[in-house]
Amino acid sequence: MTASLTTGPLPLSGGPVTLPAPHAAAQINLRLIATTDLHACLTGQDFHANSAASGFGLYRIARQIAAARAEVANALLFDNGDFLQGTALADYAATARRRGRPHPVVTAFNALRYDAITLGNHEFNYGLPFLRASLASARFPVVSANIATRLGKSPARDTTLVPPFTVLTRSVTDTEGRTHRLRIGVIGFAPPQIEVWDRDHLASHIRVRDILASARAWLPRLKARGVDLIVALAHSGIGPVDVPFGAENAATALAAMPEIDAVIAGHSHLAFPGPQIAATPDIDPLNGTLCGKPAVMPGHSGSHIGLIDLTLTPARCGPSRWLVRSAAARLEPATASDGRATTDFGRALAPDHRAALAWSRRVIGAAAVPLHTHFATLAPSAAMTLIAEAKAAYVRRALAGTEWAGLPILAGAAPFRAGGRGGAHNFTNIPAGPLRMRSISDLYLFPNKLVTLLMTGAEMSDWLEQSAALFRRIVPGAVDAPLQDCTVPGFTFETVTGLGFAIDLSQPARFDAQGALANPSAHRIVGLSREGRLIRPDDRFLLVTNNHRAAAQAPVGAVSPRCVLADGISVQTVLCDHIRAAGRVGAPPGHSWRFLPMPGTTVTVTAGHGSAAHLADIAAYRPQPLGPCANGFSHYRLHL
Ligand code: MN
Ligand code: MG
Repeated sequence: MTASLTTGPLPLSGGPVTLPAPHAAAQINLRLIATTDLHACLTGQDFHANSAASGFGLYRIARQIAAARAEVANALLFDNGDFLQGTALADYAATARRRGRPHPVVTAFNALRYDAITLGNHEFNYGLPFLRASLASARFPVVSANIATRLGKSPARDTTLVPPFTVLTRSVTDTEGRTHRLRIGVIGFAPPQIEVWDRDHLASHIRVRDILASARAWLPRLKARGVDLIVALAHSGIGPVDVPFGAENAATALAAMPEIDAVIAGHSHLAFPGPQIAATPDIDPLNGTLCGKPAVMPGHSGSHIGLIDLTLTPARCGPSRWLVRSAAARLEPATASDGRATTDFGRALAPDHRAALAWSRRVIGAAAVPLHTHFATLAPSAAMTLIAEAKAAYVRRALAGTEWAGLPILAGAAPFRAGGRGGAHNFTNIPAGPLRMRSISDLYLFPNKLVTLLMTGAEMSDWLEQSAALFRRIVPGAVDAPLQDCTVPGFTFETVTGLGFAIDLSQPARFDAQGALANPSAHRIVGLSREGRLIRPDDRFLLVTNNHRAAAQAPVGAVSPRCVLADGISVQTVLCDHIRAAGRVGAPPGHSWRFLPMPGTTVTVTAGHGSAAHLADIAAYRPQPLGPCANGFSHYRLHL
């Protein structure tokens, strides 16, 4: 069989494809519609606040997706990963008995007729069998080029978890009303850090390659399939064009690859095009291009849809029959909700939504005090103490009678809902009273596994030093200095219940935000003690933390603790069982740690919607409200 293209020779691999040459004057307008980082926000139900249709969600942008499709002759719809985790609905889908019904997110994607999706890092949080089972009912291709179940000698010889790419053959209409068969290559990528973040339950089952190494291996193969254009679904942020091997944020570097025509970026939950990402010679945040290629990053949780409008004209030479002549990328923010989903979508989701609501409202116990995270990075917190106590109690039972039973068991906890890009409502805020299943997801958002490490006193101090990297250095006598380094997420601040210490903010951070030792002579943690006795560097402890923190911290070299127990139980399960067994939990937070006094020095801090009711937690710093700001956060002045 001979290829009869006037546009150039067809590549040999991938099977010959004979297609008629397009009419010389024809022009195809093709719209790419994208979502990313939906984090199981489907119905708009804010499970934590128990309020309907107040949050973002796919339901809210479903009408916009439908309208964006209806406006044009040809459109494709993609999702860019991190869809399986993030709400009580996701926890319900992963833990409740659902008699084999499809995962609600996949049900939603099927209902909206997604054309293809890729995987994000959070798809792996509930383990590989759950991911496989969830994808089994997908009626769309799932692609990822750099996630392998077995590594080959080179990336293209890997056994990938899902196909590295797909070729969508679509009948499209040109501007003169003629139809053409267009072949669109879609390839996916995810951060190689997945291997570290979910290391203990992925173990040897999943290997994740460098994004660019995989791209270089697979793109020529995809091109050789005779595609007219290639779309990269990059669950990866917008970084520099030159990135080190193994880079997490490689979307710009991908855009520089000649085979790629358009990039959907994600993972860092930012909006692009837009002012959140700074302009560089390679990044145009006004026009939405990376290395001259159209690109979008449509926020998170359904905050935006991304739209890339491509104009294709016939190619004169080369393996593709069509070339991208011009492109326009933009974001459309989610519009105000009218509370109704599109009917198909609403009908498809209704049974799961009802079941998840009923599940989330089940009472499991009661809180004696409010459990909130508004000030969990500023002072001891009843919510963090509860999580730590549940973890420590579980490990005490699990290690009873073992060689470890004689060591002190300490537990850490971090405020996972701590504002940041999630906004002013992204705080845990549970009043005293009934605790329900939804409170578990609220207190402990991530399906992390419990991990117990053997640690010395010196390592324990460094563990806390890494948490203290959240704060900027404060010069004594400073007035209204912003306290938190806004490049460091609040959820990295793990405190350890049962330890007394002070944080000396006049010192530079000993570790940087990536956990690297930045100032070896600096120590912010002072007076580290337990039960009134100073801790010596060679004292030994067990620290109960989670797989994510343990894995992310281990490779930096500064802290290399020994794993004593990692039996695979999730912290959510431990917390739920603890509350059920105790019935009534929670106590005022106490004064185990504080900032070292700096007389005459004030700092400003940011807290969430509803924080004013909990100022007693930080009374030691004589907080003064500075008023709310436009984005809903509240600001306070603290006296150190
Ligand atoms: Mn995400
Ligand atoms: Mg991600």
